[in-house]
This record gives sequence, C-alpha cells and structure tokens, in this order.
Amino acid sequence: MDFAFDNGFHAAMEGFYAPAEAARPSVPALLAFNQALAERLGLAVGRAKDAQLVRVFSGMELPQGANPLAFAYAGHQFGHFSSQLGDGRALLLGEVIAPDGARFDIQLKGSGPTAFSRNGDGKAAIGPVLREYLVSEAMAAMGVPTTRSLAAVATGDLVQREQAHPGAVLTRVASSHIRVGTFQFFAAHFGVEHVTQLSDYTIHRHFPELVEATNPHLALLDRVVGLQCELVGHWLGIGFIHGVMNTDNVAVSGETLDYGPCAFMDRFAVNTVFSSIDANGRYAYGRQPQIMHWNMARFAEALLPAIHAVDPADVDRAKAIVDAIPDRFRDIWHHRMRAKLGLGQADEADGRLIDALFGELEQHGVDFTSFFRALAQLLRGDGAMLQALLPDAEAMAPWIADWWAQLEREAIAPLERADAMDAVNPLYIPRNHQVEAALEAAEAGDLAPWTALLEVVQNPYVLRPAWQDYAQPAPADAGPYTTFCGT
Ligand code: AMP
Ligand code: MG
Repeated sequence: MDFAFDNGFHAAMEGFYAPAEAARPSVPALLAFNQALAERLGLAVGRAKDAQLVRVFSGMELPQGANPLAFAYAGHQFGHFSSQLGDGRALLLGEVIAPDGARFDIQLKGSGPTAFSRNGDGKAAIGPVLREYLVSEAMAAMGVPTTRSLAAVATGDLVQREQAHPGAVLTRVASSHIRVGTFQFFAAHFGVEHVTQLSDYTIHRHFPELVEATNPHLALLDRVVGLQCELVGHWLGIGFIHGVMNTDNVAVSGETLDYGPCAFMDRFAVNTVFSSIDANGRYAYGRQPQIMHWNMARFAEALLPAIHAVDPADVDRAKAIVDAIPDRFRDIWHHRMRAKLGLGQADEADGRLIDALFGELEQHGVDFTSFFRALAQLLRGDGAMLQALLPDAEAMAPWIADWWAQLEREAIAPLERADAMDAVNPLYIPRNHQVEAALEAAEAGDLAPWTALLEVVQNPYVLRPAWQDYAQPAPADAGPYTTFCGT
C-alpha cells in the first residue's frame, strides 16, 4: 500500500520528535474502516484486501514512505504545568496530501510505547478506541471541526487497566497534531528561535496567508483564538462536553482533539460533568468557554517571545486579543444560537432571549437535543413533541411567547424556518446509554450495535422512523453517567 507520504514535519522540525516503532499485535482483526474518509484523503486503498488494511492499521506493516515518530509536547493538565508530555501511546505514520491539496497527519493511537510513554504501556483498549471513532465521526457529520477516524483494528492482545480489556489501535487523521502544548514545549525548553520556528511552520502549514501580516505571530494568535471560539461555540450548541480541555489536547488547527471521557448531555444542566477524574468540574459543560479563554492565555504566553521579537509593542496587542475573548465568544455563540432558534437578523433582544433559555431548560430538565427539533415542529403546527419534553403545559410558555415574538419581526414562512432549524439541530447524537451498550457488546465480540449506531450518528439531521429509539434520552431511571479516560 502506497500512501504517497509527504513528511514535512519530519524534515522541518528535527529535534522536536522522537522516532517511534509500533508494537507487533498478536492476532490483529479489522473492526472498522472508513472508506469515505480514505477516498477524501486520496489513499490508494481501493483494491486493498482487509488483511492488508489490518497489517497497516495495526502497525504490523509499515506502508512505504512512512516515517514513524512521536511528537514531543508539554501542557497544563487540570491547571498544572508539565513540561514533558508527548505522544505516549501514539505515533505519526506520516503526512499525506489529499486530492484537494489539504495536508493531513495519519497517526496510530494505541500502537505501543514510545520515548514519551513514561510509565504507560502505550496501548489502548477497544472501548475507548471505538468511542473515539464513533464520536469523532458523529462530530464530523454535525459539521464540527474534528480529527477523524480512519480505522479501528483489534490487536488480539489484552490491555491491563482496572481490569484486562481487549486491545485495539485507532488510526486518527488530523489536519495536524500541533497543540497549544507543542508551543509550550518549545517555549519551556528552548529560546525564541524555536518558538518562532514552530510558529512559522504552523503558519506555513495552516494559515499561509498570515505570512504577509505585519507580525505573523500576532496574527497567528488572533486566528487560533478565533478558531477556538468557533469550536467551543459548536460544542455548546450540541451539548458536547470534551472532558479534558488540557492545553495538550487543544489543536491550533481548531479541530476537536483527543476524545477521552467526552460525552453529550441529555437533560440540560450547565454544570454537567461526566469524567471520573474531573472531581471539581473544571471542564463542566458551561465552563468550556472560560477554560478555552484560559488555554488561549497560555498559548499567548508561549508565543510571546516570537511576537515580542518582531515588535515589542505587539505584546500589548496580544494581551488585548486575549482580553477580548469573552466578547468575541459571545458574538459567535449568539450567532450560532440564532441559527438554532430560527432567528435570522441579529437583534438587541436576542441576547436576553438566548440567556433566558438556558435557565428555563435547566429548571424543567429538558432534553437539550430534542428541544430544538421540538421548536421546529411547533412551527409546523405540531406542539406534541414540545409538550412531551415539558413537565406541564404552562412550563416555558412565557419564553415560547417571547421567542415567537422575536420570530415575527421577520417575514419568513414558518415551514422554511423549521427546515432551516432542522438542518442545524441534530436529531441523532451519540446518546450515552446507546454508546455504552454498543461498547459493551463490542467488547464481548458483537460489533453489530456499534456499527448500527455509527450509521445513525453519521446521519444526524434527517428523521427516519426506524431510528426512533436513537433519538431518545436515557430512560428516566438510568443512574448518573460516568466516563473514564482509560484509553
Ligand atoms: P490524555 O489525558 O489522553 O491527553 O493523555 C495525557 C498524556 O498521557 C499524553 O502525553 C499521553 O500520550 C499519555 N498517556 C495516556 N495514556 C497512556 C498510555 N496508556 N501509555 C502511555 N502514555 C499514555
Ligand atoms: Mg492528550
């Protein structure tokens, strides 16, 4: 199999990675392969047999031109700085250029120890691998910038966590793996030249138009901040909780990176936390914008030497960019919420309406995903879906009346508006109880529920009566849901 690799990082950034080698799996078997993504990437796998895919995507056989390496990075984990992290359970096979010219990293995750594994085994268990595959593909289908999943292969080996689990390797595709933590690594260990080198590389790879800016490093900060505001706006809009927004898990490309204990909320509650290791709720649903702001402040700090070297006066401009994040995020968020609520033109009253909505949803324990579909149904003259979500007929009536009044400012036909809302409000998300059941079955050797769920979440917007169960929240008697990092 020839991927026509073009390994730019390897050539340009020597010293900032370690060569890596994949462990040999004992009895690898293909769990999933993403043919559509392979085509998008222009990979020459058209006639490859499953056996060959298995060898390549388990790390057993190195495709021609691969130059496997583990990235070095640092990062703030739950607020505490660690100057030496790095790919401890992942290796980059190489970079490919898709037919449209876009460059992608192809990485194996769970393929054994690297120079950065510390005490870890470098392995991944099947549950987290299939969770990442499913959730990242659901995110892509919902238009959220994200890393993608190309393949999942069972290794036939056991991975010891609290219990022993079957092991697996995920093939992750990203527009790059440059993280805020990569900048922090360069800033912590090296001088301004290296930070500048990484910034130049990032600009060249992701934002070539910024080369022309008066201070390209300042322009990079501004661009990355904008992308992170957009990203977190996407997350909040679909009830997604990343779970580990450590700076090493923040991609400067603006893609969602590192699916660990992530999950979607059913009933709206702003403090929702699923991760077993997030006891203080640092990464709760509603805290994600603040944490993004904090992470961007750490990014600015790491970039500062490069910014300062071009023009010391730009340090104040960098500070202003970071200080403006809450306002910038709010604008992006309101824009997104207007689309979800079917509001067209921005209006002064929207902010109040949007803010008030979340108090109402929380007070009445409304299923977040279904609510927006129910509003569209109301526009079609069918109030039954909304009624079924609310405790009584009067609940939210004043808010609904306010929303209706806002809609009436614009002469848009209700059906047209309802269709526009349905096009941005998913009906099918990876519901926690469905994900859990699918992963449990997969671990026991039955992939059918996982494969069925994958197909559902890859088609999030269009109603299919046969998929009715997938649109339902967890049953009312389901206990609290907890997720674990444990790849
Ligand atoms: P995460 O919390 O998933 O972002 O991981 C944080 C750091 O721990 C990264 O540097 C990972 O590479 C490393 N790590 C996590 N799990 C393992 C493992 N099983 N073996 C080696 N390193 C790991
Ligand atoms: Mg990570």
